[in-house]
Amino acid sequence: MNSGSGKTGIVYLVGAGPGHPGLITRIGYDLLQHCDAVAYDALIPMELIASLPERVERHYVGRRAGRHSMPQSEKNRLLVHLAQRGLNVVRLKGGDTAFFGGSAEEAECLAASGIPVVVVPGVTSASAVAAASGLPLTDRRGASWVFFATGHGAAGEALPVPWREIAGLRGGTVVIYMGLANLEQIVSLLLAGGQAGNTPCIAVQGATTGVQRIVDSTLSEVVQDCRQQQLKPPALVIVGQVAQHRTSLSHLSTPLSGKRILATCCAQETEAVCASLRSAGAEPLPYPTWILEPFNDSEGWNRFAKLASSGGWCVFRSPLEVNEFVSALMHNGLDLRSLGKFRITAFGPGTEAALLRRSIRADVSMPSLPPALSRRDLTAIAGSAGVPTADHLLIFSEETEMDGTEWAEILRLRLFNRKPAVWEPHWIQEVRDNPPDYILFRTPSDVDGFLDVLGPELARDLARQCPVIAADALTESAVRRRL
Ligand code: SAH
Repeated sequence: MNSGSGKTGIVYLVGAGPGHPGLITRIGYDLLQHCDAVAYDALIPMELIASLPERVERHYVGRRAGRHSMPQSEKNRLLVHLAQRGLNVVRLKGGDTAFFGGSAEEAECLAASGIPVVVVPGVTSASAVAAASGLPLTDRRGASWVFFATGHGAAGEALPVPWREIAGLRGGTVVIYMGLANLEQIVSLLLAGGQAGNTPCIAVQGATTGVQRIVDSTLSEVVQDCRQQQLKPPALVIVGQVAQHRTSLSHLSTPLSGKRILATCCAQETEAVCASLRSAGAEPLPYPTWILEPFNDSEGWNRFAKLASSGGWCVFRSPLEVNEFVSALMHNGLDLRSLGKFRITAFGPGTEAALLRRSIRADVSMPSLPPALSRRDLTAIAGSAGVPTADHLLIFSEETEMDGTEWAEILRLRLFNRKPAVWEPHWIQEVRDNPPDYILFRTPSDVDGFLDVLGPELARDLARQCPVIAADALTESAVRRRL
């Protein structure tokens, strides 16, 4: 997308939605995938950033531990500078950019510098909170207006919202963004303005995320209830009769609800790994530990092409191998027909599923990868599946220990190299300040990458603090050896 022709880039102000990465719009998501640089705030779902193509420049402008976010003037300057370099920039903000996000100041500054700005709407957190708690914001039976307000005053200033006057209005809904810190003061102003203490009230933390929590209350009790339940930002408070119309159970509790899981993975698998954790109710913290770099093993492909006429066994050990193999087939002028004479073995259900997605059925499916693939293992596998053994075995990595030489000749076809991932400095700070509930390792390479990115001291420190989940025996042994 980078024109590189000295032209000014465009800045897209994009709303990322309230927390779940699926709640960014399709337009916003496509822009993210194709932009040259992204400048993002805190509260942006990490998956959206961690899964960006490597070439996209990332600039974090949100709050850092113990410090405020970058001053607005500095953010403006950064955006102008990026666009003047000819980059197309996504300025990614939580929720909808039109609500309490300082977009107008950025847009005005960009326009004054002659930089084109395009605004892409998003889902604001009020909509997410309404959906998550199953209530409407308006209702024909008594809520004909909605008032969106900030509970936040500029430092040292009085609250900017006329709370007493609002309390005197009837028949509507009041939605308070950034309201937790000053909730006590806001509630007393509303009560002093004549709002009834028994007005239904709801406070929701982290709507649509795995750490979502809902506090049902009334105006006079909401401060105490939020304190008691230790509600933390980001949270939204809704005051009004609509808060008694809760219906749906949009947030079903699962064993992983409320759990934050640090998920190590290959950068290109971030979205898939996070999606499966989210579907189990957890809040994933994606920390990609390595980046896959396709590798063109021309010798290996020559050997493969020769073998295709006689056949052999093809051993796939991960969904990544399946995906990279099929894309590389096409790059090498071949297609699925060249697998016709091979028997296919898949280790792990994910690998089997990845093969099926590519219309390849495995002849033999093994539950998971053994620590070493021995001749005996393979003969047993073949025997139990009633599949004839073969003279040639094709594997896709140089790492698996194999002693199959007497039984079959092993051909290695290398599909990719691993490059260490680079973490944003604030990611490391965040995980230090707020350790996850679990750390998940799916493969031994993820363990190695975790040590590389964090350094052995911090990596081992974290692994001591948090329970570690290893996806299989091979990974477990890597965890025991290295962490
Ligand atoms: N532009 C954003 C609001 C930014 S102000 C939007 O449209 O939603 C940040 C405030 O939004 C937080 O303090 C909190 O009040 C609210 N908020 C953001 N995400 C939220 C979430 N997932 N659940 C509840 N409130 C949220």
